[in-house]
Amino acid sequence: MTPHPTLAETVAEIERLYPMSWADDGDAIGLIVGDPADDVRRILFAIDPVQVVVDQAIATRADLIVVHHPLLYRAVHAVGANTPKGKVVHDLIRHEIALYVAHTNADSPRLGVSDAIANALGLDRVRPLAPALADPLDKIVTFVPEARVQPLVDALAAAGAGAVGDYDRCAFVGSGEGTFRPGPDAHPAIGGAGRVEVVAESRVEMVLPRSRREAVIEALREAHPYEEPAFDVLELAGWESDRGHGRVGDLAEPVSLREFADTVVATLPPNAIGARVAGNLDRQVRRVALAGGAGDFLMDEARVSGADVYLTSDLRHHPASELREHPDAPALIDVSHWAAEWMWLPVIEHALTAWLTEGGYTVATEVSRLCTDPWNHRASRSDA
Ligand SMILES: [Zn+2]
Repeated sequence: MTPHPTLAETVAEIERLYPMSWADDGDAIGLIVGDPADDVRRILFAIDPVQVVVDQAIATRADLIVVHHPLLYRAVHAVGANTPKGKVVHDLIRHEIALYVAHTNADSPRLGVSDAIANALGLDRVRPLAPALADPLDKIVTFVPEARVQPLVDALAAAGAGAVGDYDRCAFVGSGEGTFRPGPDAHPAIGGAGRVEVVAESRVEMVLPRSRREAVIEALREAHPYEEPAFDVLELAGWESDRGHGRVGDLAEPVSLREFADTVVATLPPNAIGARVAGNLDRQVRRVALAGGAGDFLMDEARVSGADVYLTSDLRHHPASELREHPDAPALIDVSHWAAEWMWLPVIEHALTAWLTEGGYTVATEVSRLCTDPWNHRASRSDA
């Protein structure tokens, strides 16, 4: 076995952790630059696909950069090196460096961006602030002569049915009787035209991801002995998953807002922004709501969650001011977008390293500590 995984294998593992189907519609994620057949020897993790990060990859001879923010978010008609993004594309290809983006698909899951921030702050009972529904499931039910149950279960499982958590090939089988009368043009596996048949059959039930519905029905028609197999496809009701935007959790001991803000700043990597704080600094903080990235859109959820403070980035005057007018409003802490999301980088590095080690691969990894927040200085009045 080669000591290095291919880019295709590495991408497959990233997408197992952060499936692309979990991204917002229209997000610009996935493999942006790179040949899936190439080997991966050194991975650099960063938030922004900007020139200094590419320069770091070139200098450290990384051959894959995994970033959070998209490179080409809006449609472009050219990638000439006379634009900053075009130069990034050119430098990547020239130096045989692949670029992979995991953006909104990495925001919401366990081991995702908001989850990483919550864990870094030591929150307990962490749950999504706005839970997403679990991936939609169907159930397929069919009826098959008893002796053919196991081959049918095998065939449906191979097509994607029967996976439940860490188990696969899960099925429920019950016994009963099926009856039918073949028409004059039928070619029955059992019985003959015009004759009523009664057959000992088993009812087989298996769950499947809705996305696998067509493949599983095709496998059923293929593997079932009957000319016209009877089957039902049921859409299962949705329920909340452990995925979702933002997180809310509790500190082990309450602290003042002032102290909590200091802890946040000390936990995040160094940056010029520090934290903007809204609220009574002596207020006690126990429940913390948070969201990586621009968190305007979760303010109501933060308030309804009973949080004492909402930690996020890029808050604007009007939404913040309107929230503060509510008597039950949480305090606000607004930090560097880059720094907050950076907390995810060691998490994905750790998860990928575990997979690489398990596969017997040798790959060097590095988390970029270059601050790529666009704000690099905070001026304050000398008389303040
Ligand atoms: Zn972001």
